[in-house]
Amino acid sequence: VAIFVQIDSASWRSPNYDRHNDGSPVLITPAGLLLHSSEGTQASDLPWLCSSRSLVSSTYYINRAGAIYQLVADNHRAWHAGVSSYDGLVDWNLAIGIELEHRAGQGAYPPAQLAALEQLCRAKIAQYGILRERIAAHRWVAQPPGRKLDPSDWSDADLRRWIARLFQPQIRRFVATYTTPIYESREHPDTVALNGRAVLLPGDVFEVDQDAGGWLHLANGVGFIPAGAAKEQL
Ligand SMILES: [Zn+2]
Repeated sequence: VAIFVQIDSASWRSPNYDRHNDGSPVLITPAGLLLHSSEGTQASDLPWLCSSRSLVSSTYYINRAGAIYQLVADNHRAWHAGVSSYDGLVDWNLAIGIELEHRAGQGAYPPAQLAALEQLCRAKIAQYGILRERIAAHRWVAQPPGRKLDPSDWSDADLRRWIARLFQPQIRRFVATYTTPIYESREHPDTVALNGRAVLLPGDVFEVDQDAGGWLHLANGVGFIPAGAAKEQL
């Protein structure tokens, strides 16, 4: 399943990744996803991560508004983990590094930023077959233990729950804008679902676990409705 994520890969690029002596990039296969908080703001974070003087970078940067910038290619070894080892992976620079614009004390991450992070993680999990245990917080992998605390304002328990959710179908909330029958299948759209109500009325709110080919599949399993009859509740 291809997941569409809007990524700005042009505005900011970092030179901080491994190269061979001839200058060509060392190519890797991403081994996981490593989450960071920048402990700064975009205005200073992006120039720093993209400066050859800083010797640090990340693969992606997500600002508080949810815009995603790609600084380094997925198959280049960006410099975000430092000395690291966790759960059998000894170099977490081999993971895709994701920096979140966030400072300790700012509290909960904005919903738009979390939504962008979730979309990006889901896309990379699908693209590279990344395992659940290869998604980690910087503080879990940094050596020696205690060297890093990020991502800040995100407890281990909450983060583990959030990671577990990435491996469940994504449930999105929609609201019906037109009266529409619920169809049992897309192949035979004349068959109305018999279980429960057979129509959705304008204003009905419902959950969707699949959005493809012009159809929305209801998360309760009853059937499909045409995508044009509803809009997502954000
Ligand atoms: Zn970090």
